[in-house]
Amino acid sequence: MIDLLVAGGGPAGLATALHGARAGLEVVVVEPRRGPIDKACGEGLMPHAVRQLERLGVAAHGKPLRGISYLDGHRQVSAPFRSGTGRGVRRTALHAALLDAATGAGVRFVHEAVGELTQDSTSVRAGDLRARYLAAADGLHSPIRRSLGLALPCGGPRRFGIRRHMQIAPWTDHVEVHWAPGAEAYVTPVADDCVGITILTSHKGGFDSHFGDFDALKDRVHGLPHGPDRAAGPLRQKVRSRTAGRVLLVGDAAGYVDALTGEGLGIAFGAAELLVGCVIADRPADYEHQWRKMSRRYRLLTAGLLKASAYAPVRSRIVPAAAALPKIFATMVNQLAE
Ligand SMILES: Cc1cc2nc3c(=O)[nH]c(=O)nc-3n(C[C@H](O)[C@H](O)[C@H](O)COP(=O)(O)OP(=O)(O)OC[C@H]3O[C@@H](n4cnc5c(N)ncnc54)[C@H](O)[C@@H]3O)c2cc1C
Repeated sequence: MIDLLVAGGGPAGLATALHGARAGLEVVVVEPRRGPIDKACGEGLMPHAVRQLERLGVAAHGKPLRGISYLDGHRQVSAPFRSGTGRGVRRTALHAALLDAATGAGVRFVHEAVGELTQDSTSVRAGDLRARYLAAADGLHSPIRRSLGLALPCGGPRRFGIRRHMQIAPWTDHVEVHWAPGAEAYVTPVADDCVGITILTSHKGGFDSHFGDFDALKDRVHGLPHGPDRAAGPLRQKVRSRTAGRVLLVGDAAGYVDALTGEGLGIAFGAAELLVGCVIADRPADYEHQWRKMSRRYRLLTAGLLKASAYAPVRSRIVPAAAALPKIFATMVNQLAE
């Protein structure tokens, strides 16, 4: 019997598989798509996510990120990372590096979609595959989470993200978050000749319909060649529990607040390690508590900023307040970075 079946071969699934294989488990990843997969993502790895990748021995090439800047057309305030650098990495480069490492560690891949699951007291079955445990890493709209009744309804405005790669040498080594009344645009340097711009908003429309709200940014990249737009959402996903018997949720499948603070990959990599620890200890029920504890700070800060920014009078004060109180801004940034 397989020790750990991983449903979904995105970054969360591959990091889980790698931790499992390195710990001596027999791991199989089931993923319908082949090769490096592109996806809507701001592509900013916070310093804690970079450290987790280093611990896995995965070298993902990109551009160093030294902090976060907030801008609103009148002001700019920057906070450097105190605990090492982050990294802007194209999604396909990150995925390729994780795939190489997983293959090298002996992870086996089956290219199909996981369908219905059944489980008993000793195993989980998905099609012809039977395993002691299953890690559901099937993404933001996880079909497995839904089929197990673990998804909860979300209130509040639904937010979406759209990413575009612009062909230009990076002009900053910070992630720039540009604030406009109805959207944020965040800029991540990802390669010597490429900068990603991701727009986050709860309003309808494509990239260009929102980009007009960011004059300075628009002028800087006007007329440059760019790649295709990639969109994702709704971003917020609430989850009742991260475990159902021998099935454990990881990555976006385990719940998501918002991309505004670069939340995502760091939590996914942290959870991957915890999940494998629980599988090895044969204590799946411990995972929920461990996941909550590991992710609490990021979830609370992201949810707090999101709530404040949804209220127009507060939203317009976010950048002025950060500029007026740079130490508090730096503390918040570093709470998210560490
Ligand atoms: C607009 C946007 C900007 C973001 N910016 C950042 C950022 O700057 N920094 C950051 O850290 N995070 C960011 N994130 C979050 C980050 O992209 C996610 O946290 C990360 O992609 C989660 O990876 P995952 O492996 O859980 O999911 P995914 O990458 O979505 O992978 C899920 C995989 O599951 C597969 N799958 C689906 N169904 C099945 C099935 N039935 N059987 C088998 N496989 C299946 C899919 O094919 C897919 O490959 C952003 C997200 C968005 C939407």
